[in-house]
Amino acid sequence: MTELIWVNGKVSKLSEAAANYEDRGHQFADGVYEVVRVYKGRSGGGVPFTLTEHLERLERSAEGIKISLPWRVDEVADEVRKVVDQSGMTDGMIYMQLSRGVSPRNHIYPKNIRASLYFFTRELPPVPAIGTAEGAKLVTVEDERWKRCWVKAIALLPNVLAKNAAADQGADEAVFTENGTVTECSASNLFTVGRGVVITAPVGQKVLPGITRQVLLDIAGEQGIPVIERNPTEYDCRCGEELFITSTTRELSWVSHWNGVQVHDRPGEITMRLHRAYQERVRREVGAMSTTLV
Ligand code: PMP
Repeated sequence: MTELIWVNGKVSKLSEAAANYEDRGHQFADGVYEVVRVYKGRSGGGVPFTLTEHLERLERSAEGIKISLPWRVDEVADEVRKVVDQSGMTDGMIYMQLSRGVSPRNHIYPKNIRASLYFFTRELPPVPAIGTAEGAKLVTVEDERWKRCWVKAIALLPNVLAKNAAADQGADEAVFTENGTVTECSASNLFTVGRGVVITAPVGQKVLPGITRQVLLDIAGEQGIPVIERNPTEYDCRCGEELFITSTTRELSWVSHWNGVQVHDRPGEITMRLHRAYQERVRREVGAMSTTLV
């Protein structure tokens, strides 16, 4: 496949694209973003999953920082599908970024500035078959982020530092904690299961409304699996019956370690059930074979 980039309506090879250094995205991290998973569809081409949900979240994030999306959601969706086809990507992702636009560096932005949108295609390895992946290893990090984490902002420095702190300790993900309770991870939402009830933090100041999270909550509702939206304590997470994290690119990952201590030696029953149903949803909605159904 060829990695293609679409920038405000023009398509080129990602490797040949140039950016403007006075884009406010570079100078102020003044922008928002999305990551959309693409699965191989029945016809053999790549099909974006929950594309509208991602674009609607992009629009809400943009509104949250007073940027207006210069295209309609359905127009962007059409452009995304076209570029996926053109690039020949089957399993992969779209990275999409909307910045406030280009203007001479100044904290105050001009009133008439036009937002700038780009997205590019990138292949991803398929998600391992359910039950075959190693568990994720998590470490806790104090949540130092701002109070608008529901905005999917490109200003990700606290997340970058947290995830690297986790990687330095041989872990996969950092769990943000605040006064002994858990919000989410550096690039995923977190769920624990206690007495058969799924617990996850409510979205808002400190939790991104994850698209995967929402799909799973819908599935849990359909399957009669009870869910409580409250911030779990670290104790709930370490000592619960099951623990898993979710994101667009990883789908669901069960958690084996918490701060270097093994908390589970295999994925839990509810985790597996939800992951299976998630992959069935992918298959149904986009006619795609989500990697590795077992
Ligand atoms: N929380 C954070 C901080 C994230 O960066 C992500 C992934 N972008 C998620 C949660 C999961 O969101 P989604 O399921 O929409 O990928």
